[in-house]
Amino acid sequence: MRVLVTGGAGFLGSHLIDRLLEQGDDVICLDNYFTGRKANVAHHLGNPNFELMRHDVIEPFKAEVDRIYNLACPASPPHYQYNAIKTIKTSVMGAINCLGLAKRTQARVFQASTSEVYGDPELHPQPESYWGNVNPIGIRSCYDEGKRCAETLFMDYHRQNGVDIRIVRIFNTYGPRMNAEDGRVVSNFIVQALKGEDITIYGDGTQTRSFCYVDDLIRGFMGLMESDYALPMNIGNPGEFTMLELAEEVLKQVGGSSKLVFQDLPQDDPKQRQPDITIAKRELSWEPQVPLAEGLEKTISYFRQDLGL
Ligand code: NAD
Ligand code: UDP
Repeated sequence: MRVLVTGGAGFLGSHLIDRLLEQGDDVICLDNYFTGRKANVAHHLGNPNFELMRHDVIEPFKAEVDRIYNLACPASPPHYQYNAIKTIKTSVMGAINCLGLAKRTQARVFQASTSEVYGDPELHPQPESYWGNVNPIGIRSCYDEGKRCAETLFMDYHRQNGVDIRIVRIFNTYGPRMNAEDGRVVSNFIVQALKGEDITIYGDGTQTRSFCYVDDLIRGFMGLMESDYALPMNIGNPGEFTMLELAEEVLKQVGGSSKLVFQDLPQDDPKQRQPDITIAKRELSWEPQVPLAEGLEKTISYFRQDLGL
């Protein structure tokens, strides 16, 4: 297979590329390096099956491929809010450009959507049939609504032009190669604990998230891509934790003297989030295998090495 991965130099994209090359695919990695870095894929430079392209998905691109994974988009709130207009353009124009390419080449195209399409959910856990509770004009909207619009475009290209689509709704995922600076909770807590700095809890820390280890997620991606399922599918780990519980587990594993400090809860921060993975189980026989404590251990050891701590 010839596979294009947009956002391939990012956290998830680089793990996906590792697995695709391992199974013998030819991979083109397309990235503008906004939040990704060449170091994440540098170990493949020189591999004749790997090509690295600096490009922005809001501009059209051409390639003869069989599969397209569209992952390009900043994923952490501080990064996607840094230039909100650019974030919407990336989701919407990026989707249109990938779908146009898929239409021409008859490639199968996969969209990295998000649990954020459910907003601050009133239904718990969230099944794919839930339409969500999203503020269309808040500071998270550039990301949430951009991803919702991308899903709409995927479904319309599918219905109108017969494009072969896959849509995954990703729930909070963590692991090695997360960007230490990107502001997401797992990397923040680990880096703070390793540096002996205060652990920043936003709000009272009782809000919940369900954290999936990256290897589990990528196995789900590849299973979905090669399945026949053309509707949105949740992939995530149903294990649900409060931010206080997460901080406690990180501190237990890292040790050290960090204290918890409480800061303002960002606007529209969802109070709870947990995937209903009935469809992934049924369609892909997929289930996460890595529990939080084990995944955190691997992630902590990555950050120790990466930051020299
Ligand atoms: P990331 O920030 O590490 O990776 C995103 C990649 O896209 C980066 O390499 C970045 O440089 C690139 N990029 C951003 N804008 C671009 C543009 N305009 N043109 C080309 N490249 C661009 O984040 P990630 O965690 O690897 O997320 C990958 C995808 O998965 C994103 O679409 C994100 O929305 C989605 N997602 C991730 C999570 C998660 O928990 N990690 C959860 C839900 C959805
Ligand atoms: N959070 C926190 N401290 C931090 C970073 C994040 O308490 O240093 C909280 C944040 O308010 C949210 C949760 O952790 O409730 C997950 O945040 P993240 O940005 O990782 O993901 P998202 O909110 O997009 O699910």
